[in-house]
Amino acid sequence: MDFWRYSRQVALESIGFSGQEKLKSANVSVVGLGGLGSQVAMSLAAMGVGKLILVDFDVVSEPDLHRQLIFTEEHIGMSKVEAAALELKKRNSSVKVEPLCVFVDEKSAEKAVKDADLVLDCLDTLSSKYALNRACIEHKKALVFGSALEEYGMVSVFKPWVSACIECVYPNLSDEGLPTCATAGVLPQLVQLVGSIMAAQAVKQILGQNTLLDTLLFIDLKDASFEKVSLLRNPNCPAHLGLPLSYKNDVTEMCTRNGRRLLMLKLENPPKIEEALTKLSQNSVNAKLVGTQVLSFVDEQGSRFSYTSAGVLLAEISEVYSTIDEAKLVVERVSRMLN
Ligand SMILES: [Zn+2]
Repeated sequence: MDFWRYSRQVALESIGFSGQEKLKSANVSVVGLGGLGSQVAMSLAAMGVGKLILVDFDVVSEPDLHRQLIFTEEHIGMSKVEAAALELKKRNSSVKVEPLCVFVDEKSAEKAVKDADLVLDCLDTLSSKYALNRACIEHKKALVFGSALEEYGMVSVFKPWVSACIECVYPNLSDEGLPTCATAGVLPQLVQLVGSIMAAQAVKQILGQNTLLDTLLFIDLKDASFEKVSLLRNPNCPAHLGLPLSYKNDVTEMCTRNGRRLLMLKLENPPKIEEALTKLSQNSVNAKLVGTQVLSFVDEQGSRFSYTSAGVLLAEISEVYSTIDEAKLVVERVSRMLN
């Protein structure tokens, strides 16, 4: 153990030598590598947390760079987990990093939690948060929840198999119509602050301290204020009642970028990257590999696509297609080549 490296945190009464050993032995899953997850991952790696499992399906894009400080211009187009793993190893070579290019849904959430001692929910959609929450109930994993939008953020800690959970607080919501960072915007310092508070809560959980357990911390950076609210298990919580999650697999519009629609589809039977490369070339599509987890290609009308090893097709649709229905047809045409 390199105590000199960590001496300024070992000096804290709450950490000390034994706490540093606990951090070194910890295995933490960071689910979502956007603004929150990249901050959490950088902070925990720098502190010497032994192993980080990084989970995300997405690729780095230019509008991420103002707040996701782990990424640089050279990572644009790469899988977020692959780019983040490379950066974390540069910053602390003794930390083990396992990148998982996975889209978190009901089927895959188990992969994100089963090997971890602690799970951090840094996701930005409710459907994925619900799926992760259910997996944490089933596998009895403590969950640090976070969210950040506009200038408002929230952090809480759940031990959802014994106490409250995300669906106790936010039951039966759908992502449709809810604002996102792409539509409503987000203050970069908010995600860094919320991510830092989540990382601090992760450290406290590893050390056996329950400071935000079943408590919601509300952060308002517009007003520079913090507030805490106690949470109880909701007797009508769909997760605790064991009700099924509503599951929909359709082309989803994520946002508009430079007047171009950005659409996403999780494929039903996703091919591996090498198979996808073959299938695309059989359809006369010339795709190039970005890193090891992403295929990038452009169609004749100028729509740009990324296919990630999570089985997700991301499409930036050409301006030629103005309606959402036309845009969806473009995605469906390419998905048929891959399925
Ligand atoms: Zn619940």
